[in-house]
Amino acid sequence: MRLLLVEDDDHVAAALSAILARHGFQVTHARSGEEALQALLPAGAPPTVSPYGVILLDLGLPDQDGYEVCGKIRKRTATPVIMVTARGDVRSRIHGLNMGADDYVVKPYDTGELLARIHAVARRTSTPGGGGAGTGTEASAGAGTAGQSGGPGGTVRLGSVSIELPTRRVSVDGTDVPLTRKEFDLLALLAQRPGVVFRREQIISEVWRTSWEGTGRTLEVHVASLRSKLRMPALIETVRGVGYRLVTPGPGAR
Ligand code: CA
Repeated sequence: MRLLLVEDDDHVAAALSAILARHGFQVTHARSGEEALQALLPAGAPPTVSPYGVILLDLGLPDQDGYEVCGKIRKRTATPVIMVTARGDVRSRIHGLNMGADDYVVKPYDTGELLARIHAVARRTSTPGGGGAGTGTEASAGAGTAGQSGGPGGTVRLGSVSIELPTRRVSVDGTDVPLTRKEFDLLALLAQRPGVVFRREQIISEVWRTSWEGTGRTLEVHVASLRSKLRMPALIETVRGVGYRLVTPGPGAR
């Protein structure tokens, strides 16, 4: 897979490029917003599929605001963008997602997690540029996010809610809660990264495998149903205009 790395710090770029190359990526390095846009397409050309499977975009660039660069990239191509930044607050994340980023990684990040996310967005969008031959798909998926999950294929616990991924069983305070297939898929998706905002389009394409606009209401209905079945209305938070996220309950919360 070809990957466009937008990073003005040569040391960071060199280290990251080496790691990515070891995992089968063909890395093109851009040192500024302008270089990044040049690498994609001339301005004014119709939006199209870029040669890259994924774009890693550092937000602190010398020439342009990283968020604006993201917006410009979005106008030129549908290639997934992962923002990489030291600004980890919720407002910055939401702003990034609003500017069209597909994911948001906060420095300092774990390389395994970054690789897992690159593969995840590439899979989600699977542009022709990203599908390609034998990329190192074995992504050392050490997605050690918030310490919530019991590892891949395990059980995710969120307060009184327990989600058993392999058996697709969900229980609240030890009592099984029957969920529909889509309700489970939706919950399992959000539970992959508690606290992280999932965009509506992203949820719809993952859970319903479609981008049909009418699914939007269906999503709302499923969220409402999950909130009531799990008896934790606050568990799934609506991020207005963006999507949803799981709120990690504090110790002793329910
Ligand atoms: Ca920078």
